[in-house]
Amino acid sequence: MSEESFDPVALIHQYFPDADDATVQYILWNKTGWPCFFQSGILSLEGQLEAYKAALDMGMDVCEYCSNKVNPTESTICSACKASLDSARAARRRPA
Ligand SMILES: [Zn+2]
Repeated sequence: MSEESFDPVALIHQYFPDADDATVQYILWNKTGWPCFFQSGILSLEGQLEAYKAALDMGMDVCEYCSNKVNPTESTICSACKASLDSARAARRRPA
């Protein structure tokens, strides 16, 4: 599939046929790595949409940064991403 013909909105409607425009935009920008994480990656976007849909079907949500499942009442990011962010923050505080 060429870059010009790739339509992320149509792909989201395949997974969430009843989603309105606002929901489609929310999913695209908040629940996938679009547009930065994919060079031409329909497979990666599909993978994230599948993970998000599977998590919702189980009453869960997915991490803001990856496809790990999270309990939305506890956190919006998974423990692995939280550990990476904490480590990066700690490294930035250290003097050079
Ligand atoms: Zn994560």
